Amino acid sequence: MNSAELIVKYIPNNSFKKEHENETNVWKLGYDLLLNNYIFQRHRTNKPKNGEYSLNWRCSGNKDGCAASITIRIKDVQVIRYIPHNIEDNLKHRPLRELDVDIRSFKNSVKNRCTNEEMSLNMIFNQEQEKFCQN
Ligand SMILES: [Zn+2]
Repeated sequence: MNSAELIVKYIPNNSFKKEHENETNVWKLGYDLLLNNYIFQRHRTNKPKNGEYSLNWRCSGNKDGCAASITIRIKDVQVIRYIPHNIEDNLKHRPLRELDVDIRSFKNSVKNRCTNEEMSLNMIFNQEQEKFCQN
């Protein structure tokens, strides 16, 4: 797989907070990375090479032996290294469906708003549900 075929997206994870939406969050705190719809978690910041930092992400199947990882340069968000998945897909190791991505975003939006807003859980839930159904 060459890097042109790698489709990278970011989705809020369980530790997502409102301030993570900021564009200065180059370390992607509060996000998981989706690579061709597989979830990757932040693993480490690589020491600067030629003064340039990069972030290393590991496949969430890592605990089950998957060695996949991706390294992305901070400056221009370019993929500089990719190691492919090396275990078979199963219930725990498989790409997310679009619906799974939406459900995760929904849950994390509700959770985030509950900790940051005065509004009741019911009202937040209903508002987010309306947004969800419009998409
Ligand atoms: Zn994997």
